[in-house]
Order: sequence, then structure tokens, then C-alpha cells
Amino acid sequence: MKRTVSILGATGSVGTSTLDLVERAPDRFEMLAVTARSDVRKLADIARRTGAKLAVVADESRLPELRDALSGTETRVAGGERAVIEAAATGADWTMAAIVGCAGLEPVLAAVEQGGTVVLANKEPLVSAGELILAAAARAGATILPADSEHNAIFQCFDFARPERVRRIILTASGGPFRDWSRADMASATVEQAVAHPVWSMGAKISVDSATLMNKGLELIEAARLFPVAHDRIEIILHRQSVIHSLVEYVDGSVLAQLGSPDMRTPIAHTLAWPDRMEAPVTPLDLAAIGRLDFTAPDPERFPALRLAREAVNTGGARPAVLNAANEVAVGAFLDRRIAFLDIAAIVEKTMERYDPAAPGAIDDVIAIDREARHKAAEAMKVFVD
Ligand code: NAD
Ligand code: MG
Repeated sequence: MKRTVSILGATGSVGTSTLDLVERAPDRFEMLAVTARSDVRKLADIARRTGAKLAVVADESRLPELRDALSGTETRVAGGERAVIEAAATGADWTMAAIVGCAGLEPVLAAVEQGGTVVLANKEPLVSAGELILAAAARAGATILPADSEHNAIFQCFDFARPERVRRIILTASGGPFRDWSRADMASATVEQAVAHPVWSMGAKISVDSATLMNKGLELIEAARLFPVAHDRIEIILHRQSVIHSLVEYVDGSVLAQLGSPDMRTPIAHTLAWPDRMEAPVTPLDLAAIGRLDFTAPDPERFPALRLAREAVNTGGARPAVLNAANEVAVGAFLDRRIAFLDIAAIVEKTMERYDPAAPGAIDDVIAIDREARHKAAEAMKVFVD
């Protein structure tokens, strides 16, 4: 029997890597739903290639174009945010959540609530509403698997039967394009420089997050959600080659790590086949060619995002949701060239100072906090816009 698959955010970087694996194994997988924000041509092409049952564009104004592009095929089309949420709930055995940002929150929840396996690349919903998403997964009997390379590495090394035997989790970070830059140089960094990641090729938002190290801050919170380990036992180390994807230390001093070429198709393949394994068209790791692996502690002065994320996870409640929303607004403004690179973390910090709501009790609370934090961040930003 084929496994049914849906991909939310099919036109993005993670979506494309996922499609590559699924399309190489047509005897194993059958496509149900594919979604995108606005790239109708790419979405229609994906739907035609894979024979998807449903194609959804979030930007409803593009629906007529999508309908034209898929006329004469068996693929049903729909448009709008509601339709994306419905696409997440078409009963796929395996759903890839690869929308960027908290826009993925309700689709992730809808996917989780139908049971099945939900693979999270989309880390922002887990940061903002992790406890609620995990509780919904437990209620529905859904399996959540991490596609983020660090969390997938930890998942592969973690002894879930004896979590009390884990002493530390060590998250590795490539350090992004500015790992060796002075703070003065970072102050005038351009969008082009920020998105030019030295190791990984990714969407614009996560590339900027990698440059500020907010990505590692979000991943710290993500790890605290996914693994039963106290958050002060999760550490971050810079490792520029991105060969070791993360490590788990046990009480006897054993440290287990997962290694591989930096290619998202490895962690995605792990989740597609889990608990089995499947072939992935990834360059084999050649340690002799790499020669050396370097490690350094991150610099808190140049990368204040790490401190902000640590504070958010320590305090808990609504803090991670506020951090994430402010960061999404600030990164968007930087990509629009309205603020400077170092303003991103400054805006997140200002927003967190000015907005400290009560802990969310339900998803609607998270959505309200996310919305209000975006307003507050936009206000805080006025000081920085020139
Ligand atoms: P991307 O920008 O390349 O793709 C994002 C996808 O989401 C696209 O298909 C886009 O059409 C869709 N989308 C964007 N906004 C939307 C909206 N408002 N409503 C519905 N759909 C929308 O991003 P990416 O690099 O593929 O990252 C996706 C997620 O995976 C992010 O949360 C990122 O942090 C995470 N992630 C990415 C990588 C990577 O290697 N790219 C690695 C680990 C984690
Ligand atoms: Mg990662």
C-alpha cells in the first residue's frame, strides 16, 4: 500500500527537497495535497508532475490562475488561508509542514488533529505554541517528527525510554555568514550578504535568522519543546562545517552525534521512511576531504538573539510567542530594506520589554498574542526606520 503524502509549503526550499525524495519513489508515495502562498506556476507544475489530488494557493486572488493552469487535470483547486488549513486535514498518512513562520500554525494544528505523521520543518509554530501542539498531537495520537537537521539528529541519538540518563543536548550552529564579522561590519550588512549562507541553501527568512543566530535561538526553544530535557541542559556550539548536526551526552560521558553532508534531504528522508530507512541522493560524507571539524563558543555580544531566546525559554508562557512574532516582523522589515541588520535583535528586545502578556491557554490566545506582538514590534520599529 502506498503512503499518502501532503506538502504544506511545497514551493519552498524544504518543500522542494521533500518533493525530490517523494518523486524518486513513486511506488511508495501518493500525493494528496500541495500548497503555496502565491507561486501559482510552480504549484501547478508540482501538482501536474505528482498527480496531486488537491492544490491550494493561500493568496486567494491567484486562484483563477491556478484553475487555468490545472484545467484538464484531475487536481482539485482551492484558494485562501482557510483552504490551506483544510488541505492540511485531508487525511494524509504523512504531512510535511514547510510553510514559513507562524502562518503555518493553524495548518500544523489541523494536520496534527487528524492523527497520522506530521513532520515539522516549520519551527515557528512549535516555538509560539509548542505545548498546545504537542497536547493536540497526544490527544489525536499523531506522531510528530522533526525535519530540522539539528532536531532530527537529536531524535536519532536520544534514548526516549531513559531520558533521565541524558545529561546534555548540544545544538550545533554553522554561525551563518557573519560568524567572523565584527559588530561594526554587521551594522552595515546588506540583505544580499545576510541571505548568502556559507553552508545551507534555504528560504530568505531562515537565512536571515541564521545570520542573526535567531535561528539557533528558535531551535533552542524547539528542542526544549521536543525533548524531555531541562532547557538549561541545552547548549549551543558553533561548528562551521555543519557536518555534526547535533549531539546528545549521557550521564556516563558518552556523547552520541549524527553526522552527514549538509543536505536537508537526509533528515527529510529519515522522517519519510521512519522507522525504516530509505535511499537519499545525498553526497556521501567524506571526512578525509573535509579534514577538520572546528568548534567555538558563540559570541553573545555580536549575537544578542541567543540571549533573548534563552530568556524566552527560561520564562516560558507567552515569551517565545512574542519573541517569534517580533522577529518575523523585524526580519520582514530587514528584507524590505527598511531597517539595518543589527536593528532586528534590537526590535525583538524592545518588543519583549514592552509586551509581556499572560501565558496562552488555547490556540486562539496564541493567535491573539502573535497579532498584538506584531503591532508592538511595528511600533518599536519606528525608532529604527530612517
Ligand atoms: P521558503 O521561504 O523557501 O518556503 C516557504 C513555503 O511556505 C513556500 O512554499 C511558500 O509559498 C509558503 N508560504 C509562505 N508564506 C505563506 C503563507 N502566509 N501561507 C501559506 N503558505 C505560505 O522557506 P523554507 O526555507 O523552505 O522554510 C520553511 C520552514 O522550514 C521554515 O519554518 C524554516 O525555518 C524551516 N526550516 C527550513 C530549512 C531549510 O533548509 N530551508 C531547514 C530547517 C528548517
Ligand atoms: Mg536547523
